[in-house]
Order: sequence, then structure tokens, then C-alpha cells
Amino acid sequence: MSVVFDCPHCQAERVRGTAFDLRETVRVNERVPKWGWSSHWVRCSKCSAELYSKVRAEDMQGASPSTVNQRVSSYQPLTQRFLAVASVAMGWTPVVGVIVGVVATVANVRTQGWPRWLSIVGLVLAAGFNVAMFWVLLYMQTQIGSPLTPQ
Ligand SMILES: [Zn+2]
Repeated sequence: MSVVFDCPHCQAERVRGTAFDLRETVRVNERVPKWGWSSHWVRCSKCSAELYSKVRAEDMQGASPSTVNQRVSSYQPLTQRFLAVASVAMGWTPVVGVIVGVVATVANVRTQGWPRWLSIVGLVLAAGFNVAMFWVLLYMQTQIGSPLTPQ
């Protein structure tokens, strides 16, 4: 789907872009149904930047440049930014922190800029914290389970 718009990335005016839809799916295992989401993008023919679009590629047909401009942004979609922040905020929680970290990293794998790096930081924090917590729990269990030894 070809559109004409003003690219917010390279500042080119009335540049040709290609609108396309992207379907991303995550499959945990055979029993869990596929979990996925669609995103819509416009690729600038001049600088090849992939810009996030609020509407489907087919809804871009016949849209005037000013309409396309309103629907396209170089910003990350809110959910992906939210997940990136959540992955760090939830990093201290047992198990949930790791799950949010993985989801955020997968959701942001194609995006550029800070949400991607923040997701990875969140995942590393969550993984590190959960591993540390596991050892602490294991240590406490062995201490409680063993008889008191004389000093
Ligand atoms: Zn451009």
C-alpha cells in the first residue's frame, strides 16, 4: 500500500511510503493458544525508517498526506513503552517480573530506541533478582531444617 506523507524521521516532505501490517505471535507451547498482536507501519522510501501507524495499511488507501501525517508517528506504541517501564518496575516481583520482562523484550524486539533497551534491562534485573531470591530461600530452608550447632 503506497502512501504520500511527510516523514517525521528524515523531515522529507511529500515523500512516498509503504504502509504494511505486521502480525507478531508468541507461542509458549502446543497447549497454549497463540498470543499475538497486530501493528501497522509505514516505511519511508527515503530514509527507510519504519514509523508506527495507528491504522491498518488498507485504511491508508486514498488518505491525503495530512491525514497520513496525523496517523503516523516515530514514537513507540503506548503498550510497548508501558511494557518496557513495567518490566523494570516489576523486576523485583517473584516469577511475574521475569514473565513481564520476557513479554516486554519480545514486544520491543523490533523497535528502536529506549523501550527495547529498558525491556532488556528489566529482564536482566528480574532474572538476577529471581535467581538471588531462589538461593536465599534455599539457604533459609537448609538453615531452618538443620539442628542448632553449639558455638
Ligand atoms: Zn524518512
